[in-house]
Amino acid sequence: MASSSLAILKQNLKKIYNFFLYEIVVGHVLTLKYMFKKKYTIDYPFEKGPVSPRFRGEHALRRYPNGEERCIACKLCEAICPAQAITIEAEERSDGSRRTTKYDIDMLKCIYCGLCQEACPVDAIVESPNFEFATETRQELYYNKEKLLANGDRYEYALQKNIEQDNKYR
Ligand code: SF4
Ligand code: SF4
Repeated sequence: MASSSLAILKQNLKKIYNFFLYEIVVGHVLTLKYMFKKKYTIDYPFEKGPVSPRFRGEHALRRYPNGEERCIACKLCEAICPAQAITIEAEERSDGSRRTTKYDIDMLKCIYCGLCQEACPVDAIVESPNFEFATETRQELYYNKEKLLANGDRYEYALQKNIEQDNKYR
């Protein structure tokens, strides 16, 4: 008897709630509440979130401040790459230094593990903070030395800052 009157009461309450559009009102109140709170989303691509100094993005080859390539063609990066994405050819220059004549990365094979960067004794090959390098064709993701050096020139300031920030943890 008691349980049936409870069920009737519940039904009536539901009808009253429905009549006053209770759930819609609660929904609007919730929306209004969050309109004045700090936003959790950003208006990408116009706004960008923070990127860790250890972020492993698009690859770049760095130069010394005098413009000389850092890479000494030791091929450690090529040897350590688990995806076999790096191809290097090298020769000796007239001044006796060893430099690459070809430095290719197949970005389609790359798994962004960062081992090439870790293996490099002269901080030449690095992964930049850039994550916006989607392309329309596969061919555009076969990077050659010119492209990698251009990336290095473009991101040198950020790369230098990231290396400095990370050095104290090494
Ligand atoms: S990040 Fe890893 S997979 Fe990509 S090129 Fe470097 S070593 Fe190879
Ligand atoms: S990028 Fe670094 S590890 Fe790779 S060949 Fe050049 S110097 Fe050696």
